[in-house]
Amino acid sequence: AITIGVLAVQGAFLEHITLLRKAAGEITSTDLSFNFIEVRTSGELYTCDALIIPGGESTTISLVAARTDLLDCLRDFVKVERKPVWGSCAGLILLSEAANSTKRGGQELIGGIDVRVNRNHFGRQIESFQADLKLPFLDQARMPADAFPGVFIRAPVVEKLLPKVEGVQADEQQVPDSVVAPSKQAKDEKAQAASSGQVEIMGVLPGRMKRAAEKGAEIRASEEAGDIIAVKQGNVFGTSFHPELTADFRIHVWWLQQVVAAVNR
Ligand code: GLN
Repeated sequence: AITIGVLAVQGAFLEHITLLRKAAGEITSTDLSFNFIEVRTSGELYTCDALIIPGGESTTISLVAARTDLLDCLRDFVKVERKPVWGSCAGLILLSEAANSTKRGGQELIGGIDVRVNRNHFGRQIESFQADLKLPFLDQARMPADAFPGVFIRAPVVEKLLPKVEGVQADEQQVPDSVVAPSKQAKDEKAQAASSGQVEIMGVLPGRMKRAAEKGAEIRASEEAGDIIAVKQGNVFGTSFHPELTADFRIHVWWLQQVVAAVNR
């Protein structure tokens, strides 16, 4: 069985598990079974083939995880073992290499995607909104391409793709992990080359211009093209919005397909 963990420190982890269960029903391979577990300890994390970090409050999740060895283990999971990981909302913040937080004393990040996010980009809780999203990757997974209901709650935006760290080539991700117990140093070196491949933009939120105009706000030219609200880099995927707070499990199906492919690789 493939074990998929959902980080259950805080936030919408139960909702993710519910949609994962539904999504698993769409994966038709007969010889496949899934285990879905809540992850609160590094011991639980070790049993996982893939992980979701839910929406919630990234500062809380990070502080709680840092109090144990969980945060370091999460970094290993993402950047050394390079297992499939998906973060939604707060999860995306934690999986970004940098966060432009207006609040100081911000949280420690796990990292994994070479982007900088801007937290709470769309405003406060009462400015939460739902928007129809066109997500081309659902098409590729041969799923109905209807608009996806994007739920944005104090959501982050990807405001910058970070330049690649010098000397780190995309093909370094091929380095086989043949050492059973890598020394700390070897691990650190691999971690430095953690970000694998290019950042792919998986989704853009259009219509911000229109919404801003409705509110009478001034519009900056950069907003015309739309906001980046879904990205993928190698094994790491992130969404600004919360698919787990909808009944639409197409993204969960797509992600499970990615996990199955990674596990069989
Ligand atoms: N604004 C939250 C944070 O900074 C994320 C909100 C969410 O996950 N809905 O962590």
